[in-house]
Amino acid sequence: MDNKISVTPACPPIDLRSDTVTKPTGAMYERMMTADIGDDGLDGDPTARELEAVAAALLGKEAALFTASCTMANLLATFAHVGRSEQILLEAESHMYTTERGGATISGAFYAPIAGQDGAMRIELLEESLGRARSRLKTGMIAMETSHNNAGGAVLPLAHMAAVATAGRDRAIAVHLDGARLFNAAVHLNVSPADIASYCDTVAVCLSKGLSAPMGAIVAGDRDVVDRMRSFRKLLGGQQRQVGIIAAAGLEAITTMGKRLAEDHARAQMLSTLLARADLPIGVSYPQTNIVQVDVSSSGRSPDGWVDALAAQGVLVRPWTNGRLRCVTHRHIGDDDIVHAVQCFQQVGKATPALEGRS
Ligand SMILES: *Cc1c(COP(=O)(O)O)cnc(C)c1O
Repeated sequence: MDNKISVTPACPPIDLRSDTVTKPTGAMYERMMTADIGDDGLDGDPTARELEAVAAALLGKEAALFTASCTMANLLATFAHVGRSEQILLEAESHMYTTERGGATISGAFYAPIAGQDGAMRIELLEESLGRARSRLKTGMIAMETSHNNAGGAVLPLAHMAAVATAGRDRAIAVHLDGARLFNAAVHLNVSPADIASYCDTVAVCLSKGLSAPMGAIVAGDRDVVDRMRSFRKLLGGQQRQVGIIAAAGLEAITTMGKRLAEDHARAQMLSTLLARADLPIGVSYPQTNIVQVDVSSSGRSPDGWVDALAAQGVLVRPWTNGRLRCVTHRHIGDDDIVHAVQCFQQVGKATPALEGRS
């Protein structure tokens, strides 16, 4: 067996760690240079206000708020809907649970995870929790996520979203959607973002992932709820001043960058197909959107070992849970990069792993 890894490192690296690495487009820089700006704390920054109006219309909601991040957007929805010592029901692998539940230390909300499949809560378990809730904590909010990060970019079926929406509406419980990658879900389902957002009271959308804005997110909903979130944003120190410079990039992102996500999805499928054909002891997910999960638990090399060996060849991926790697396609990844990345996987997979952790 050939022990040598001989592919020349690509320069610059092929960065499949996340779609958050995307840089602003030329059009974004141009809009940032020429944006009409003002003090968003005093009179309202005109470009931020425009972004909020455009985003609200795109999401089919009365109003929207520009936030520093999608984490902040989800937290503001929590503040708006959930009282102290009330609970949030959400899918057990959701980002709001696995990564953002530290928000409980300031919201006072209790997170109650519901087991799911492909990112979708099991409806009978949700109903059971809601039934039980009467004798326990009051449920302030039910939260969904689409596309679902930990479920490999899986998109919630609209019928599932409708069932969750009904469960909430029947009991006057707010439904929030963590739609960090809502535009990826919309492209996959070939529906509008507003169609998906119609199943929730509030929706958060990240501008700085595949949409390629440098930073920022949107949270949208009814006007009175957005007004409350605006106050909470100030409380958190999230009210900024000439924020139109950034909102200008966000406007370009949300109005022009959604449709091209189909290219990222096609490249993720290409990556999955080529890796599955590569005759390696790995398992590969077939993606609906732009995230491919590679199970390396039978490869004799740990996820961290793969990350290091691939990085040595100029391919950056992230170690994930349960013996997996995560690869994400985005605007800076072309067909050639996919082909080259697969070659590197082959080189690493065929080389004998070093004796890990036994130096
Ligand atoms: C990235 C992500 C977030 C957080 O977004 P930030 O803008 O990085 O705070 C929230 N939810 C999901 C599903 C995400 O993928």
